[in-house]
Amino acid sequence: MSNIIEYFSSVGKGIVSLVKGMQVTGKELVTKKITECYPENRDNLNISDRFRAVLTLRDVDGHHKCIGCGICQMNCPNGTITLQTKMVDLPDGKKKKVLDKYMYDLGSCTFCMLCVSTCPQGALEFSNDFEQSVFTREKLVKELNAGLENPPIQAPKPRPAAAPAAAKPAANVEKTAPAKDDNATTPLAGNKPEEK
Ligand code: SF4
Ligand code: SF4
Repeated sequence: MSNIIEYFSSVGKGIVSLVKGMQVTGKELVTKKITECYPENRDNLNISDRFRAVLTLRDVDGHHKCIGCGICQMNCPNGTITLQTKMVDLPDGKKKKVLDKYMYDLGSCTFCMLCVSTCPQGALEFSNDFEQSVFTREKLVKELNAGLENPPIQAPKPRPAAAPAAAKPAANVEKTAPAKDDNATTPLAGNKPEEK
């Protein structure tokens, strides 16, 4: 008897499982299809914003935002980034380090985003331009600042005026304080000195 119950129980579970599966299948049957007909639809290809294809320097009106600090280069676990910097003269006669070349090897990048997330300037981003096929590995090394100007050099801020020096306390308070008369008596309350 118990075998019969067990048999029909397993048949019932199987039917429930089949219905659940068919529900998923039926739902996908009427869902809008997202298959991309690449490369025919290259002009209106739908790629996720989160896709990481190649590292780029953000273009802000023809300028990038990199200050050549080297943090991205230090944080890259694969040695994918190589920075070259140079010194330029400022209007006030001082020198400043700026970016000369930002070299990036797409062939060794693992798209970990450490460089992007640690850049203090927000100068880096990943584009979703995934068509990066080339015939030699050398062509995967890119100069990211090619065609972009260095960020405009800000005029040095004037130094705030020095605060006036605080008045020095008296060197010897005892010397300047009136000498205390040991014989003087403190007037009691209600015992005012006579007015003349
Ligand atoms: S991209 Fe960012 S982290 Fe890298 S050198 Fe430029 S400013 Fe520094
Ligand atoms: S994504 Fe990662 S591996 Fe690629 S350059 Fe940035 S830090 Fe290096």
